[in-house]
Amino acid sequence: VIDFDLLYGHPLSQPCALWERCDSHCCTMGRRFLRFDPQTPLVALPIPAPEYAYLRGLAPGGAQWPEAPRAIELELRGYSLRLYMQPCNFGGACEGALRPAICRLYPYVPLIDDDLRLGGLIHASALDLVWEPGADDDPCLMRRAEETRRYVELMRDLIGKLARAPENLELLLWFNLAYRYLEAFRDYLGENLAEGAAGEGSEEQTHILHLCNRTQLFLADPEFRGRLDAEVERMQRWRS
Ligand code: SF4
Ligand code: SF4
Repeated sequence: VIDFDLLYGHPLSQPCALWERCDSHCCTMGRRFLRFDPQTPLVALPIPAPEYAYLRGLAPGGAQWPEAPRAIELELRGYSLRLYMQPCNFGGACEGALRPAICRLYPYVPLIDDDLRLGGLIHASALDLVWEPGADDDPCLMRRAEETRRYVELMRDLIGKLARAPENLELLLWFNLAYRYLEAFRDYLGENLAEGAAGEGSEEQTHILHLCNRTQLFLADPEFRGRLDAEVERMQRWRS
């Protein structure tokens, strides 16, 4: 069984105290797209089925969100996973103990290398990928240099502790699958922004981001699927 207690109790999982200074950007980023689609939730949270079950156990009577999640079946080479996309419209006013892993990892998702060490970081939300790492206009204050250094220390500690138990390697695989998804989204967004020649922070740029988020054509690209398969193979190497 994956040790969610370890992840949820780790210092990296502490709620961010800077929300008043960024207007709760990470819990409300979907509001930028409401003018293109009034049904857009403030946030859509990816939660693997085993974690969803764990969260239900923490909140007797069901998970904390009133909205129904959308289920996605992920079939990779030798590995399958049900992923729930959970709309969240709390805007930051959720029950802190019931935040899923993606909210705890924010503002980054890690890539774990063959030696079970931190191999890279990427912005934790596809909608945040319009900002380059270290950009002055990035609304998330936790991605500044000093906060990022602290994050890296904590993430290395978390990975080291999780990697001690073979059952947790699947959780590290999820991190890597999320990283590969975000990496591919960043490339897809880059191609479409270049074609649209949108100005930084413009209405046009926001619209292109919204359309990229809706279409996500790269999901069916064999090259992208190959990158996900390679992460499953990496987990098998960790296990051997
Ligand atoms: S993690 Fe970033 S976006 Fe979220 S509340 Fe903190 S500073 Fe704001
Ligand atoms: S669950 Fe809480 S922390 Fe996560 S997006 Fe929703 S309001 Fe924000």
